[in-house]
Parts: sequence; structure tokens; C-alpha cells
Amino acid sequence: MLPEEVMKQAAMEMTDWKGCGMSVMEMSHRSKEYITIAEKAEKDLREIMSIPDNYKVLFLQGGASAQFAMVPMNLLRGKDTADYINTGAWSKKAIAEAKLFCKVNIAASSETSKFTTIPLRSDWQLNPEAAYVHYTPNETIGGVEFHSIPDVGNVPLVADMSSTILSRPVDVSKYGVIYAGAQKNIGPAGLTIAIVRDDLIGQTIPATPTMLSYETHSKADSMYNTPPTYSWYIAGLVFEWIKNKGGLNKMAEMNKRKADKLYSVIDNSDFYRNPVEPVSRSWMNVPFTLANPELDGKFLEQAKAAGLVTLKGHRSVGGMRASIYNAMPEEGVDALIALMKDFEKNNS
Ligand SMILES: *Cc1c(COP(=O)(O)O)cnc(C)c1O
Repeated sequence: MLPEEVMKQAAMEMTDWKGCGMSVMEMSHRSKEYITIAEKAEKDLREIMSIPDNYKVLFLQGGASAQFAMVPMNLLRGKDTADYINTGAWSKKAIAEAKLFCKVNIAASSETSKFTTIPLRSDWQLNPEAAYVHYTPNETIGGVEFHSIPDVGNVPLVADMSSTILSRPVDVSKYGVIYAGAQKNIGPAGLTIAIVRDDLIGQTIPATPTMLSYETHSKADSMYNTPPTYSWYIAGLVFEWIKNKGGLNKMAEMNKRKADKLYSVIDNSDFYRNPVEPVSRSWMNVPFTLANPELDGKFLEQAKAAGLVTLKGHRSVGGMRASIYNAMPEEGVDALIALMKDFEKNNS
């Protein structure tokens, strides 16, 4: 979901942005008007995430998937190995891509628990020679989430925050790189945000394409070539919305309340089930199955009739998944809970 207020404002401004006679979609990315929009978005993001001055905020394309390659290309810096933590489907994709560039040490994995847990930090086998440590704070498909930042000493910590960025306050200074595709919790698809510590920029591996170097985008304020202007603009409206709502502390409070409610309904029934250990459950993505999977189709149909959509679980795991990102109001979760209780009563 996107916040309704944001979409209404975008609709209002759609054909004529603040009386300039043009839609944001029609503006040159080098125009005075667009630069105002772009700079304000970055300023607001820096403010809501308290991003320190020694970090660059890059507005990129290629999705989180392109970052799977950009991270090793930019961060290996003469080393030939990196540590990865494997907590599920997205970790695996990042690992497979990194293997094109370096040796990958799987420092910890929760594969033996079928990715229903987060490996304890005390069990990680970090390689002292690693160029960086990569992990996925929230596994969007499995619904497992780290609820604290792992301490990895002085080695740069890299996080794929695609599905949890802006869900709560985060200490950016603990990271070397944070990246996120915009389409989960920021705005429309097409934009990728990378927050990169200064000292990690400018030491790419040989033959790194210009477009895949953080330095290119850093030096050009993310305008080396045409950025995804409209997505950047909408992201800016979302940052402003978060600010007006009370910032990331407020987002965290709302997100935790929404998630707690939903897990409590699941846990208090034999009809629904979530396999993730309670301390590692995601605030953003709540997968659940029915005791009788033959009822999945019927559940989804009744949900749709009640206006509750996009609940089908990821094709790799089946069942259901409620993605309750920032913009999902608590009433949305309440409506899902009402449907779940009703469905359980009528089908058990
Ligand atoms: C969705 C997602 C991705 C893939 O993002 P793209 O922008 O489509 O490349 C990667 N990692 C995580 C954690 C995701 O949720």
C-alpha cells in the first residue's frame, strides 16, 4: 500500500505541479523544479532516518537485485572474500550473485530450521579476512526479522533492508551500506535507495561498469543519467508523510501493534499457523497457513469479497501472507482479523 494522503496529493498535482504548468513526469531531471523535489526528498529521508553526514544517499535503479552485484563490486576493495548470513530466499539470491565476484563464507545459516529462526550471533563464524558482512534484516517471503543489529566489529555491515526500511528507527552509523528497493515500504517500483558510508566509495573492482559504481552516482548527486524521477517524487511525498505522522518512532509503535495483534490471533487458534519462532517474527510480512490447505482458495476468495487483497502467500511457500507495511492502517489489520475469526468459525 501507499498512504492514501500521498496518492491524493499526487493525483492533485498530477497534471500541473505547483502551478509550473507541467506534470512531474514531464519535467527534465535537471530543471530547477525537479531539483527542488529531489533535494527535499533526500533532506527528509536524512532527517527521518537521522543519517549521519558521512553517508551518501543514492537514488538508483535496478532494484535490490542490482545491489546484490553492486555491493561486491564496490566493497571488495582488493579482498577476495565476504561473509553472508543466510536467513532465507532473499539472502540466497544475494549469496548467489556475490559468488560471481568473490568467495562467499556463509558465516551463519538458519536453513536447518527451514528459515524459521535467526542464527544466534554467538554461533556466527565470521572470517577475519572478509571485506564485509551481508545480511537481510527482514526476509520478506519467510517472515523472519532481526530485531537488533548484529555486532560485527569493524568490518562493514551491509543490509538488504528492502522490506523493513522505515518501519522503525535504525542506527545508520552501525552500517557500511543499507540498500532497499523502494516498492515495499517507500514508494512505487523503479527506485532503489542506497545509503553508503563515504569511505567505502571509489574502490571498485576492475571493469566495474560506470553505472554500477557508487562513486558515479555519488559524484553526480544521483543524476549521472536520468533517474526514476516520478518514483523519487512519490518517495519524497512518503518521507514527508512519515515526518508528519511523527517519524520512525511512531511507525515502529504502529507496526508493532499491528503485528502483535495479528500474531496473537494466529497463536490463539489451531486453525491458523505461523511457523516462525516468536522472537524472530517479522513486523512487516506475516505468513500464515490454514490447518487444512484445501481451504486456501476459499479463504482468499472470501478475503477478496471483503476487500482484502494480495494475501496469497509467495508461490514458493504457499498459504497466506499479510504484508502490513507502514501505509497499512490498523483498521486494515482489524478487518483481516475479523475475517479470519469469521472464517474459522464457519469452517472448523
Ligand atoms: C523484494 C525484495 C528484493 C528484490 O527487490 P527488487 O527491487 O525487485 O530487485 C530483494 N530483497 C528483499 C529483502 C526483498 O524484499
